[in-house]
Amino acid sequence: MSTPEIPDRYSRQVRFPGVGKDGQAKLLASKVTLVGCGALGTVLANALVRAGVGYLRLIDRDFIETNNLQRQILFDETDVAANLPKAEAAARKLRVINSGVTVEPVVTDVDRTNILDLAADADLILDGSDNFEVRYVINDAAVKLGKPWVYGGCIGSHGQTMTILPGETPCLRCVFEAAPAPGETGTCETAGVLGPIVNIVASLQAAEAFKILCGRRNAINRDLVYIDVWENTYKKIKIASLKGKVECPCCGQRRFEWLDGAHGAQTTSLCGRNAVQVSHRVAGKLDFASMARDLGVVGQVSFNKFMLKFDVDDYQFTVFPDGRAIIKGTDDPDKAKTLYAKYVGH
Ligand SMILES: [Zn+2]
Repeated sequence: MSTPEIPDRYSRQVRFPGVGKDGQAKLLASKVTLVGCGALGTVLANALVRAGVGYLRLIDRDFIETNNLQRQILFDETDVAANLPKAEAAARKLRVINSGVTVEPVVTDVDRTNILDLAADADLILDGSDNFEVRYVINDAAVKLGKPWVYGGCIGSHGQTMTILPGETPCLRCVFEAAPAPGETGTCETAGVLGPIVNIVASLQAAEAFKILCGRRNAINRDLVYIDVWENTYKKIKIASLKGKVECPCCGQRRFEWLDGAHGAQTTSLCGRNAVQVSHRVAGKLDFASMARDLGVVGQVSFNKFMLKFDVDDYQFTVFPDGRAIIKGTDDPDKAKTLYAKYVGH
């Protein structure tokens, strides 16, 4: 069998024995779905396109804001001025970096209704998203389709990543049975995030992507990796033994609750009120005191035992202890979901 001609631009990567000519040929023939083109997503897309992945589908629902530039490495001030969606701006830059890669920007909100279509033809799914709801949807889809995926998440100065090979390693729900309650973990809006941890976590994810796409499964990381660049913590948490030991509804029983809509946020426009209700099932009650501390950094907040009120920009949030929220200032359900994810979290 003859190996196809490998362009010289990849010579340093090909010289590395872990990749080699055959690994590079596989990379060039591979197709990746990347969910999210923000902090992690731009670092991932940059690494993959420079390395010569054949086809990159880049999905994001958002526009670029000035406060993204501190960590979202594919964007600059001209993109903010042009008011471009992140997926489109990133695609334009990536094509300049490597015209040999096919980049398909998709401006949409990834959810249970579209994930199977967006992932069905991919060899690998990468998580560059910023919330747990999307990750559980990805996890369900990946296990259902039998596709590998790489989880990554960052907040403040810490982040974590794990690689999921359906049928072989534990899935996200084996390790994190349920998403943290909204308001529990903070968001990048309330807790902030440092550029270096984003680059580290996304780079670890990218290396995993190379191993999977080059067919080097024995090199894949099978632990949950946790790093805090401010506290100087570097941990590898053994998770391999969870496979088959925990009662996992997803990979154990093949019940795809996030794809079926049994979990996750539901939205209802409140007609004539310029408001949307976001319902989010949580176990137990929200901790308003800790949420008020976080949200007080970015807006006006007050609460009693029945509700928490929070004003930011032109929006007024009323959040109830069961996780439900009414967001006034928009009648667009997608916008309301984005605002909920941004400030209340998942
Ligand atoms: Zn599982």
